[in-house]
Amino acid sequence: MDPTYSAEAEEYREKIRGFLAEHLPADWKGVGALPDAKRGPWLEEWRSTLASASLLAVAWPKEYGGAGLSPIEQVVLNEEFATANVPTQTGNDGFGIGMVGPTIIVWGTEEQKRHFLPRIISGEDRWCQGYSEPDAGSDLANIATRAMLDGDEWVINGQKIWTSSGHTANWIFVLARTDPAAPKHAGISFLLVPMDQPGIEVRPIKEMTGEALFNEVFFTEARTPRDNVVGEVNNGWTVANTLLGFERGGRSTTLSIGYRSELDGIIDLARRKGASTDPRIRQRLAWAHSQVEIMRYLGMQSLTSALAGGQPGPGSSIIKLFWSEYHKIVTELALDILGPDAMVPSGNISGATLQAGSDGELSSAQAVRSFLGARPGTIYAGTSQVQRNIIGERVLGLPKEPRADAGPWNESRKG
Ligand SMILES: Cc1cc2nc3c(=O)[nH]c(=O)nc-3n(C[C@H](O)[C@H](O)[C@H](O)COP(=O)(O)OP(=O)(O)OC[C@H]3O[C@@H](n4cnc5c(N)ncnc54)[C@H](O)[C@@H]3O)c2cc1C
Repeated sequence: MDPTYSAEAEEYREKIRGFLAEHLPADWKGVGALPDAKRGPWLEEWRSTLASASLLAVAWPKEYGGAGLSPIEQVVLNEEFATANVPTQTGNDGFGIGMVGPTIIVWGTEEQKRHFLPRIISGEDRWCQGYSEPDAGSDLANIATRAMLDGDEWVINGQKIWTSSGHTANWIFVLARTDPAAPKHAGISFLLVPMDQPGIEVRPIKEMTGEALFNEVFFTEARTPRDNVVGEVNNGWTVANTLLGFERGGRSTTLSIGYRSELDGIIDLARRKGASTDPRIRQRLAWAHSQVEIMRYLGMQSLTSALAGGQPGPGSSIIKLFWSEYHKIVTELALDILGPDAMVPSGNISGATLQAGSDGELSSAQAVRSFLGARPGTIYAGTSQVQRNIIGERVLGLPKEPRADAGPWNESRKG
């Protein structure tokens, strides 16, 4: 089944294709094909090209710096970019354009929208996510970070952990306890906090890939203006869940395009390694093909809901669970195809992207990087167990599991 788009949407598609043809070299093979040293500068330049052409956050209203386009035009742009193997966002944009921006559009005041949204698009403000704490992951409502009013400012004390891209951000959205006496889901607020201040310390955490992409963030008498609360004081739990819907469901309509291209690379690898005639490998490749097709259908379902004007809700847990579990298995398959080469990968694993290299082939370093990178996919934005709980309780309406105060087996969770 292939969806048909309106004439307007197809016209917009031609425009995007024209833009890509104008700005990408004729032999473009994707960001993964760029030499390691050139990738960072290229991404920075690409972002400024997109910003100048008003192609970042295209569905945001014009008065806040967006292009005021329809959801279908946003989807068409995402499809064309995914097919051309170029990102629609770079750096901290996943948190700014992908999460806090749309949340401010839903919950923010007019002043917040006018102040923060254009700064996200210009790149002046680079965001990170301050949800998880040492004792608050799946049980996110257990957060202990406190914010108390002192005149016109919130004063924040506590610690966040696993803060992805915290070292490149200058703003953090923070869940903080603002009413310690209230039941735990009720006394939380969603605060916007500048990071460039003495009360905030960012400490990197080294990962198994060798990179340090996430951090601990410590707040000691950190401050933010009183007005930087989104969606009312003590209503942060609801705002936090709106953001999680964007985090889990944001890329869902075009997700399958990237996974299709990755799977094509793995099939090609199987041919090159002589594994494509092995019936056990063929069986696993056929399984992977069917999973990518299911993702395509799930994407169409999200598209239908986006066109009806819906925000991503608990249903976004279905696609999050699906892609993250799939990716763990298919990247294991790639390593099995590589065989002993996976033990001594060629090149730098931490710098490798998940795409084919300059020769158009998936290298062993890329396959290993992809394998390692797929492991945390079933943890961040809420673990697979938590997604299953959400699907059971909030999508299928099954009875809730016991909410004993004694254990961490609580409510929905996080980023
Ligand atoms: C790569 C990466 C990037 C991240 N980036 C960020 C970020 O930028 N900002 C941020 O705030 N956080 C971030 N996180 C943190 C992430 O959201 C948490 O790791 C996640 O919510 C799980 O929490 P936890 O690690 O405390 O595990 P726990 O909650 O302690 O869970 C441990 C185990 O218990 C299971 N479990 C817990 N509760 C239940 C339940 N009710 N039912 C069944 N099983 C349950 C879990 O599934 C898991 O297997 C990131 C994590 C990773 C891996």
